Amino acid sequence: MKNVVVKTINGIIEITRGMLTIMKHFFRKPITQEYPEKTPELSPRFRGRLALLTKSDGSDVCIGCKSCAKVCPCGDLIQIETSKDEETKKLKIDRFTIDIGRCIFCGNCTDVCPVNAIVSTDQFELAGYSRENFVLDKESLTLTPGQSELVKDRKERD
Ligand code: SF4
Ligand code: SF4
Repeated sequence: MKNVVVKTINGIIEITRGMLTIMKHFFRKPITQEYPEKTPELSPRFRGRLALLTKSDGSDVCIGCKSCAKVCPCGDLIQIETSKDEETKKLKIDRFTIDIGRCIFCGNCTDVCPVNAIVSTDQFELAGYSRENFVLDKESLTLTPGQSELVKDRKERD
């Protein structure tokens, strides 16, 4: 009999505690975000879809050193082909692809780039219908000069 009384009192205490917790949160502002209606504010350090920056005249920042491809821990997902520009005597980028579907967003490629040509953006909506969709070519990776400035501003806030 004593046991039943003790258990009942404990039960009432626990229910009361639970109700108090509910009441406490009932008047608080919700912290959940209604995605996709509201997009989350991301840290400047967020590592999303990779992109290539351009200079103000629209030319490539990338110098074709291939350090990013070498440092990538996921094998050959960065593919770069270069050739020598006879006019400038510098390397020009003929092909630059990233298989973003295999990328683990470690940031090694962006860290190692000597000219900060490759950057992580805040784009995280990367769904696609086929694996081929995830292989991004130079055209889709390259940002306009205006977009490049915005990405640089975001990095400077870091
Ligand atoms: S973020 Fe990491 S995994 Fe993705 S391409 Fe760069 S080095 Fe490779
Ligand atoms: S993105 Fe950077 S690291 Fe990669 S090839 Fe171009 S300059 Fe080199």
